[in-house]
Amino acid sequence: MNFRSPTDTFRHKGLRKKLVEAIRQKGIRDQAVLSALEEVPRHFFFDSSFLEFAYEDKPFPIGAGQTISQPYTVAFQTELLSVKKGDRILEIGTGSGYQACILAQLGGKVFTIERQKTLFDKTHKLLPNLGYVTIKTFYGDGFKGLPSFAPFDKVVITAAAPKIPGEVLSQMNTGGIMVVPLGENDTQIMTKIVKTGEHAYTTEEFGVFRFVPMLENKTV
Ligand code: SAH
Repeated sequence: MNFRSPTDTFRHKGLRKKLVEAIRQKGIRDQAVLSALEEVPRHFFFDSSFLEFAYEDKPFPIGAGQTISQPYTVAFQTELLSVKKGDRILEIGTGSGYQACILAQLGGKVFTIERQKTLFDKTHKLLPNLGYVTIKTFYGDGFKGLPSFAPFDKVVITAAAPKIPGEVLSQMNTGGIMVVPLGENDTQIMTKIVKTGEHAYTTEEFGVFRFVPMLENKTV
């Protein structure tokens, strides 16, 4: 094994505290979410040459044309999910694995799917090395969900979905929450969907965000 565990210095911790305070100022008030952001070292998800960008409140390229979401966006989606300890959570769009670790930090049992093989391979190796041994990573198309691991209490989609993925909705428990940026253009509307019955749900909209697209079928 040639993986060297990254270090979390006082400087990193200080930068993270400042970042979390900035996110609080922007309106995130759920203390559990803010604490999770303070606990998970975001620089562990960056290549070593880009560490100085890890504690800016900005998205950043992670390879394969994808990005690690802006910390504020991660906090916003996580707050909308109302994670409870033991929740079975499906994430679509593993990317760097950062969002998955935030959900695990909150006590969720996390299942996460990625369609880009290079990102999947990298994150699949990284997460256990960072100590996140309970997160289950999958290579595949998130539009199909994970039927053999259903039902889920929560679903978070971290790519721009052109429509509500019906197959995924059908894999949720009644009372479950899905948080998904909906829209096919440059920007999307953050949408919270509550499954109210076997074939019924309500939706609520939470403003404009910008994500990389959720792409159907092919895994690459
Ligand atoms: N949650 C990530 C953000 C990743 S960006 C993080 O914390 O870093 C969105 C990711 O969604 C990209 O890696 C992209 O490849 C992936 N993606 C896009 N369409 C997908 C699909 N249909 N199924 C699974 N992953 C998908």
